Amino acid sequence: MLRTKGYATQGPTQPLQPFTFDRRDVGPNDVLIEIAYCGICHSDIHQARDEWGGSIFPMVPGHEIAGHVMQVGRKVKRFKKGDAAGVGCFVDSCRKCSNCKDGEEQFCEKGMVGTYNSLEKDRKSPTQGGYSSHIVVDEKYVLKISKKLPLEKVAPLLCAGITTYSPLRHFAVKKGQKVGVVGLGGLGHMAVKLAASMGARVTVLSTSASKEKDAKRLGAHEFVLTTNPENFKKHSGKFDFILDAVSAPHDLNQYLGLLKKDGTLVIVGVPVKPAEIEAFSLIFGRKRLAGSLIGGIRETQEMLDYCAKKKITSDVEVIPVSKINEAYERTIKGDVKYRFVIDMKTL
Ligand SMILES: [Zn+2]
Ligand SMILES: [Zn+2]
Repeated sequence: MLRTKGYATQGPTQPLQPFTFDRRDVGPNDVLIEIAYCGICHSDIHQARDEWGGSIFPMVPGHEIAGHVMQVGRKVKRFKKGDAAGVGCFVDSCRKCSNCKDGEEQFCEKGMVGTYNSLEKDRKSPTQGGYSSHIVVDEKYVLKISKKLPLEKVAPLLCAGITTYSPLRHFAVKKGQKVGVVGLGGLGHMAVKLAASMGARVTVLSTSASKEKDAKRLGAHEFVLTTNPENFKKHSGKFDFILDAVSAPHDLNQYLGLLKKDGTLVIVGVPVKPAEIEAFSLIFGRKRLAGSLIGGIRETQEMLDYCAKKKITSDVEVIPVSKINEAYERTIKGDVKYRFVIDMKTL
């Protein structure tokens, strides 16, 4: 076993603290990665605090992992020592069901093996995430990262990047379409950059007027303040596609009203309370309300390659590991532009 240093929480009301644990030895198909950076995703906080239920403690969170390959198993073909490599939200899946065979392992019928707060396929060994010095992952679930981009800015692409890229591609957003992004946070800022890079006309829909300048800097063409109900009338029926990245409660009917005929509203944020949808919001204009969850390995690699080609990265604030608990509080307040990334050298 490989002794590994990390930061873990022992329970839902406990802070993250230094923690030592074992990783499995490098098997024939495994890659050992020395973690350079790990992003802080809002879902790390939800799980560390057991806000979704069923959390496994002690927990080392982190699923936006970027680093370098230190060692590979004897059967590994795609990686060699020194390569830049990444790990996202899952580290294994059944590999046999139709969703796995389609390359959409995030929807594995047996349940994907999450990078942390999950059990390995033996259904008894807990997985531990990226707030740690090293990770051992089967090469099939490891992503290649271009050395052209700074690793700390690439790390958030492994969750925030793919979460927004996948629905833009699945619903075939294209040049000239009018795309709305609801909420300008970790997910929203990636959605703006990606949609703009695909040639869409991007509008940020936000409750805070102070975000207008940043929205434009990130590539948005227009900004709409959603605290003013008049704006929903003014922009009614104008959008081809809206990506909703907000986790706070909000009225989806208002946003459905902004769609054109056959327009699609995709939810990637996770509010705690169920939404109330009026049937008329969908019937008039044959509108679609859909959801999306990260992306499969193939599409995540496609996204990383696309971002390397287009030079798209996340806007990050790099912190030492000792600032994790503070960063959690600031993430909850939305006080970050736009992703905290932990420098693992400080572990
Ligand atoms: Zn995440
Ligand atoms: Zn499967």
